[in-house]
Amino acid sequence: MRYFGFSFHGTPGCLRRLLEKNEWDFVQIQLNYYDWYQGTARQQYEILREHDIPVMVMEPVHGGMLAVLPEDCRQLLQDKNISPAGWALRFVMNLPGVSVTLSGMSETGQAEENTAAADSEHSLTRKELSRLERISEILHKKIAVPCTGCRYCCDNCPQGLDIPFLLSAYNDYRDEAAAFGDKNLAVWRLFRLKALAKEKQPSACIGCGSCTEHCPQGLDIPSYMREMSAV
Ligand code: SF4
Ligand code: SF4
Repeated sequence: MRYFGFSFHGTPGCLRRLLEKNEWDFVQIQLNYYDWYQGTARQQYEILREHDIPVMVMEPVHGGMLAVLPEDCRQLLQDKNISPAGWALRFVMNLPGVSVTLSGMSETGQAEENTAAADSEHSLTRKELSRLERISEILHKKIAVPCTGCRYCCDNCPQGLDIPFLLSAYNDYRDEAAAFGDKNLAVWRLFRLKALAKEKQPSACIGCGSCTEHCPQGLDIPSYMREMSAV
């Protein structure tokens, strides 16, 4: 038996058009509670359900972002015996129609945690879901650029920039500027980039847009590079 499907990074409208053109056995989408409440994951999931297509999930922990939560978000998780990653996996596995959940693991502990989540029969309550929604709102305010560090953009940058590294510096800068209201401190954080060779700094970006074309998150990377250069 062979199954015919695809991995999707695009808009809900595009997904609907693809489903109308052919018959598919499965589709893989990026789905996690952050993208459910702050992005288009819910719409994509609902379109697949309308077409009765099994959902395969990638990035259930949003590239690790939901595994390491800031303290104010951690406080919202009720059962402290379940890790933040465990909550993220339970959210996805709780959804009817999700047949496969793919999660990258780099340590034995993560494999144990993930299998525990898969074995769990814990159905999330309305209250637990509303807490995850609240966490997603807090994160959305804190994180200027939701880069997952997948590096799909890097091979396509003609300038060879380490784009995820630069975006993480940008996030630190925005976070500090928002938290302390002290532009000087925030600018100091960006100043670390001075240690990079000139041709690897944000100012080396030529604005070709190739990175954005290859970014599953559709991030407008050239505009962040421009802002960093200006600062
Ligand atoms: S827009 Fe800038 S960062 Fe993006 S691929 Fe082109 S040169 Fe690299
Ligand atoms: S492709 Fe997008 S999400 Fe992935 S590392 Fe590059 S900027 Fe980040």
